[in-house]
Amino acid sequence: MQWIKIFDFSNPWPTTVIVWLVHGDEIVGKKSIQYLHSQIKKSSWIRWKIITLYANPKAHKIDKRFIDHDLNRAFDLAHYLESYEISRANQIKKFFQNIDIDYMFDLHSTSSKSDPMILCTSQKSSLKFASKMPIKHVIQWLIDIVEWTSLLRYFQKKIKLWMAFECWCHKDQSTIQVWKQIIDTILSFHQAEKIKKNPDQIKIQITDIVLTSDPKFKFTKAYKWFEKLKKWEIRWMDKSWKHSFKKSKILVMPNLAIKSELEKKDKVWVAYFWDIIK
Ligand SMILES: [Zn+2]
Repeated sequence: MQWIKIFDFSNPWPTTVIVWLVHGDEIVGKKSIQYLHSQIKKSSWIRWKIITLYANPKAHKIDKRFIDHDLNRAFDLAHYLESYEISRANQIKKFFQNIDIDYMFDLHSTSSKSDPMILCTSQKSSLKFASKMPIKHVIQWLIDIVEWTSLLRYFQKKIKLWMAFECWCHKDQSTIQVWKQIIDTILSFHQAEKIKKNPDQIKIQITDIVLTSDPKFKFTKAYKWFEKLKKWEIRWMDKSWKHSFKKSKILVMPNLAIKSELEKKDKVWVAYFWDIIK
């Protein structure tokens, strides 16, 4: 499949970029994009420009997350480093150099069974559209707190609305169903159809990201995604500390692979804690 596919319709506004397979093993992205392409072919009513970006073909061919390192951390890294992902990031940057992007949707899946969630920027337009998606958890992603050199970090100044989706497991059939619903919602949105707000949605805002380099780190119990934790509850321990917060929080993503990551790096993220937005 081509890494860039442009559907340029009569009215090339708004320009929507849909990104898939940033991580090569997230194969549900492929099935969803095939669905999108088939929906586009069937439709006579789409009037706006859509670009699909197949981000990491080489990693996908060998069913690995990446070749040299995570593409979603490669967008501001030095050019002289030799890495497939850095050269991909540069190729993507170059391609979009002179293209005005209005909306960007970034499709992901996770390695463990977790509730599907939306990560979106704190722009009103992103939050408003997120509220119509058939997904329960919406996470307001504060890009300035997150230090990653991600695709979003690079493109954020150019875009009016951004959203990433993390859905269930890479190879799970139910993930594909969620993706199809997401794509249908994106298509309806662009047709200016009235889409009802999702009444079951929970909006959550980031408040803390925990990082550690302490190999003695451990969670006090096996936390689940989106687990509600009481104030003062001890969440983890390291060398000398038992950690808790003054307020109740939601643990969105406990890092389940922390031990092996600690051996590889000098600092890893442990968990994201968030507050509910009322
Ligand atoms: Zn991913």
